[in-house]
Amino acid sequence: MFLTKYFLPLLKEIPKDAQITSHRLMLRCGMIKQDSAGIYSWLPLGNKVLAKISKIVKEEQDKTGAHEILMPTIQSSDLWKESGRYEDYGLEMLRIKDRHKRSLLYGPTNEEMVTDIFRTHIKSYRGLPLNLYHIQWKFRDEVRPRFGVMRGREFLMKDAYSFDVDEKRAQHSYNKMFISYLKIFQRLGLTAIPMEADTGPIGGDRSHEFVILAETGESKVYCDSKFLKMKLTFDDVDYNKDLQELVDKLTSFYAVTDEKHDPQKTKNIDLTETRGIEVGHIFYFGTKYSKAMGAEVALSNGSMAPVHMGSYGVGISRLVAALIEANHDNLGIIWPHSIAPFDIGIINLSVEDSICNEISHKIYEKLQLLGKEVLYDDTNERAGVKMSNMDLLGFPWQIIIGPRLAKSSHCEIKNRSSGEVIQVKFDKILDFFKER
Ligand code: ATP
Ligand code: MG
Repeated sequence: MFLTKYFLPLLKEIPKDAQITSHRLMLRCGMIKQDSAGIYSWLPLGNKVLAKISKIVKEEQDKTGAHEILMPTIQSSDLWKESGRYEDYGLEMLRIKDRHKRSLLYGPTNEEMVTDIFRTHIKSYRGLPLNLYHIQWKFRDEVRPRFGVMRGREFLMKDAYSFDVDEKRAQHSYNKMFISYLKIFQRLGLTAIPMEADTGPIGGDRSHEFVILAETGESKVYCDSKFLKMKLTFDDVDYNKDLQELVDKLTSFYAVTDEKHDPQKTKNIDLTETRGIEVGHIFYFGTKYSKAMGAEVALSNGSMAPVHMGSYGVGISRLVAALIEANHDNLGIIWPHSIAPFDIGIINLSVEDSICNEISHKIYEKLQLLGKEVLYDDTNERAGVKMSNMDLLGFPWQIIIGPRLAKSSHCEIKNRSSGEVIQVKFDKILDFFKER
């Protein structure tokens, strides 16, 4: 992408109302624009990151055997009256009337709607287990929308729903999601800590939140330092096998949010006390919705039984902010490779110089052929401005092409994360990136 042709409205001023780093950086980098309190438009750069996170989430959910669907944002209130949550949900729910005065709502979550899909189509235990998920915008009229997309009113969530014949099998579905979530956060370069949690308006009796540690997090968290030092890999996890032992091991460490903290239990623990951001939350709620909404299946003995359900949410748009909280310095963002909006930024320091121009264009084209995503700064801004903008945008690599080094057919390659800069001959640039 040529920067002169891209829509990247960088802000020079630090926005005053943005209180936390990720919000400031997202505005300065032209990733989002606020439309009203807690409601944002996602501009090209921000939208690219949303798509990359969504892709990783989809890949990992698909590996568990879950199926992607897409449910609407607007729901009929009838389903919520059936489950009994229409009144319970309170002011967070945005209630709408259509032209026929029918009550609709903008979905804050989809338990009711997915239960309706299930009961319409699955009548027998043979259709189980089933896990349906979608990535869709939600609306919750939060009392205090703040910190940009971290706590928005409209936000993008991946929500999955599992259906099983009994509690034992439902526990296996829960465990699969538990491990899948750890894999997702690991691929995003984040250490997420599973913490026992309250179930809130979703209901049920088993629940874990996935929390990443960050000074600017909204909740205070306490965690056994041993968990943070563990090197976890889940690459060889087989979702068909029993995962209980693994989940038990991962939940055996002391890890709680403020509300659940009990100093009596931490006397002999090397405790890490910090703040955290909730990026995912999973629930097992048994037959709460299936009983209320008549989602029953015929068992092998012919009798009917309500299906056992769980729901599993990842805050995709919140993750963009959380990732920036975890990956930045005083110059700007430092994108992890897996979700960087561009892999490489080319800085042409002198667009008037014919060698610089020619080389920059050539490298840009060749890197694209290598499958790299490249943003080429071909503007006629001052060199200093270009360099600081590229640091602000934080792509993993920068190629800096200037007239002085170009005379000896060299340019500089900078690693944004380490800050290391090396000089490389033009004809060696492709080899350098082939291995990366
Ligand atoms: P919170 O405790 O942060 O208000 P929640 O417990 O109400 O969140 P869940 O119903 O568990 O939220 O939703 C699943 C995930 O959706 C959360 O873990 C979070 O990552 C994301 N999420 C929830 N509310 C918001 C919001 N207002 N803005 C952005 N993301 C959100
Ligand atoms: Mg939650």
